[in-house]
Order: sequence, then structure tokens, then C-alpha cells
Amino acid sequence: MDGKLIVILGGGESGVGAAILAQKKGFEVFLSDNGTLADEHRQTLQSYRIDFEENGHTELRILRADEIIKSPGIPDSMPILQKISAKGVPVISEIEFAGRYTDAKMICITGSNGKTTTASLIYHILQSAGLNVGLGGNIGKSFARQVAEESYDYYVLELSSFQLEGVYDFKADIAVLLNITPDHLDRYDHNLQYYVDAKMRIIRNQETEDAFIYWIDDPLVTKEIEKLKPAATSYPFGEKKKDHAAAYTENGKLYIQTKGNIFDMELELLALEGIHNVYNSMASGIVAKLMDVSDEQLRASLSDFKGVPHRLEKVASVRGVQYINDSKATNVNSCWYALQSMRTRTVLILGGTDKGNDYTEIEELVRKKVSTLIFLGKDNSKLHAFFDGKVDVIREADSMKKAVDIAYQLTQRGDTVLLSPCCASFDLFKNYEDRGDQFRECVRRL
Ligand code: ADP
Repeated sequence: MDGKLIVILGGGESGVGAAILAQKKGFEVFLSDNGTLADEHRQTLQSYRIDFEENGHTELRILRADEIIKSPGIPDSMPILQKISAKGVPVISEIEFAGRYTDAKMICITGSNGKTTTASLIYHILQSAGLNVGLGGNIGKSFARQVAEESYDYYVLELSSFQLEGVYDFKADIAVLLNITPDHLDRYDHNLQYYVDAKMRIIRNQETEDAFIYWIDDPLVTKEIEKLKPAATSYPFGEKKKDHAAAYTENGKLYIQTKGNIFDMELELLALEGIHNVYNSMASGIVAKLMDVSDEQLRASLSDFKGVPHRLEKVASVRGVQYINDSKATNVNSCWYALQSMRTRTVLILGGTDKGNDYTEIEELVRKKVSTLIFLGKDNSKLHAFFDGKVDVIREADSMKKAVDIAYQLTQRGDTVLLSPCCASFDLFKNYEDRGDQFRECVRRL
């Protein structure tokens, strides 16, 4: 491409994918990461003969770029980004870049909670219906790499606020906005509106023939909609039938009304439990009906979906006590939904790296359902300050094994042990998967 230089910042899944696509499109490519690359990613770059550096940034070379693709994990506060911005080099996301090279229909999912579950469920439904569909974004193989190496008619993309920040011309044919609750405020100068603005970029460039699916009962979302007046055709969903809701529940059934068709299904037959998963199922069902998936096929897929690990995942029942791994609950709101779906006395394991949490949201449910709290973190002072005196038994643990052992000692038949930490995992674990895997392992060893 006339010697145009594309620099990719960050050599994780999305960066490596973007590098492969940029190389395939004939650009000069340079990938730079200030940390150490995973062996797998280093090997991939080498096998494609893509030029890269790790453990530091060569500024002069980066600043020569015609365009920069920034990985979602890199905050704007990094010194190199300040220099890039001062020089006026455009910075985009892998999603924006890859979107330029495919005509496939884009089904994009964002929200503070439920993205992975809903994206995976939509993918399951569309794939079961025989469509030629890829799954990417924040999940699995990078979108850019799939555009470079596969040929799908549809993509289901899970998009985080960080990925959405770097989209400009990209358009979602179907946009799903599940909810907006405070998260990642550490990356948004503790200003909720910046985070909301990033999420709302999901409807950027949409036109009347496009679809915008959103949760009607979310006050933040509805306020934004009044302000932004989306151009796309709206398909709101909510618990109760109201305001032209395209999906709602009534008398134990889920209804989806689209294109003159009314789909219904018993809530009890849904594969995923909890009211939050009814919402996720509604959003997925609207997508399916807009894509003409038959009622029977949709019913079958909504009931045989296997779920996603680390999200209210039932690990095992040991001596009549159910152990549930919700390690992906890295904010207070997702823990609220986990507690809401508990039907027995619960021992809650929570704690980790705090992202500016306010535990008031779960106080009532904790008082009602939780017999014991186990704080699993390096610094539990904030948890103590909030919960001391509100729950009968509070214990601390500095490893998963200790947490699970304490839970085992303090439970009796019929109880549930729930790992739903409200916090990031980086103080004691590599990531939330590692935390969930260790939980599973410790429970299996009981
Ligand atoms: P994300 O990809 O947005 O982080 P996940 O599907 O991985 O979302 O789920 C993260 C956490 O949020 C899990 O603990 C899950 O049980 C909970 N959750 C899932 N869907 C919703 C929803 N619609 N509203 C609130 N919490 C949810």
C-alpha cells in the first residue's frame, strides 16, 4: 500500500490479528509492545515475518506511522500515546481497521455485564440455524485475524468500551446494548459519562434499516437515547410488557415480537438461570428473529445452550453443598445478579483488586441471603469497613485453597458457596480465568 506504515501498539490477540491483516493488505507493519509477548504470539509474528519489538517502545519509529492501531488494554495516559496525539497520528481500534475489509453483516454486543454470555448465545443460535458466522471482538480469535483468514457472512462481535473508543466509520448492522453500570472508572478519570459515551458509540453511523436492541429498564441507557435520538429502528426489551417492547415476560413466559411474528417460550425452558440471563436471552432472541431464525430453531437453541465458564458456572455439589464459580463477576452489579439468583443460604467469597466499588448495591441481598462472607484479597480493609457488623460470620483468606477450605467448614447440606468477587483478580491471580480455575480445582479436591 504505497509504503504506508501501520504501527500496532500491543501484541495480544487483537494486536497480532491486526498485524496479520495489515500485512495481508500490503502495508508496512511494525508491532510494538512495552511488555513481554506470550510465546504463542511471538511465534505467530515470527512465522508471518512481521516486524515487532517487545519490552519497550522505539518512539521514533512509532511516530513515523501513518496510522496506529491501539490494543484495548492500553490506556490513553501512556506517555507514548500523548506523543502520538501531539503529533496528530490517527489512532484506531482493531475493530475499525478490520471493519474496512469485510462486507459481512455485523452483530455487535456491548454493555457493562453480559457481553460474553450474550455474544456466545447469539453465536450458538445463528450457528445452529446453519448460518456462516464468526465470533470475535473481546472473545476468542481476533476479528481482524478472522477477516484476514476466514470468509464469514456474519460476525458476532463482543465489544468493550475500550474497543468502541477507537471506532469511527465502523457500523453495527445490529447493535445490542445490554446495560450500563459503573465499571472501569479507573480508566475514565472516575467520570461515568466518559464511560457511557464510549458505550454509546455502538450506535454510531447506524441508519433506519439497522437495528438497535437495548434494555428499556436501564435509566442510564434510556437517558442517553432521549439525548442522542438513535437513527436505527429500536427493539427494546424489558421484564414487563410496555412502550412497544420487542421482548418481555408475562405469566412465566418470554415473548418476542418482531416483524408481525410473536415468539413465545416458557421461562423454565431457558438454559441460563437468573433474571439477568432472561434479559440476555431476550436480546439474543430479538437478534435471531431479525435474522429470520425459525421459532423452533430459536426455542431449541435457547434451551440447549451450554453457558460460558466462570459465569454462574455450577462446579460441583459436595456433601449436599453446591459450589458456583462466578469469577467473571468483576464488578458489584454482576455480583448483585448472582446473589439475586441464589435460592439457598449462601457463603459468598469476594474481594480482590477494587475498581472504585460501592457495595451499597448488594447490601440488602447480602443481609438477606448470605450467612458468611469470605474476603479473598491482599487488602481487605475496604470490605471490612463496609461489611463488618452486617453479616454474622466474616473470614479472610489469602489463597483460593484457604477460602474454599473455610467455606467447606462453615457450610451445611443445602447451602451454596458462591465465588462472585465484585473485584478484579490481579492481586492474587493471573486473571479471572485463573481465579475460577483455581476455585474449580480446590472444590474438586475437597
Ligand atoms: P461481560 O463479557 O460483559 O463481562 P459476562 O457474560 O462475561 O459479561 O458476565 C460477567 C458477569 O456478569 C457474570 O458474573 C455474569 O453472571 C453477570 N451477568 C451476565 N449477564 C448479565 C446481565 N445482563 N446483567 C448483569 N449481570 C450479568
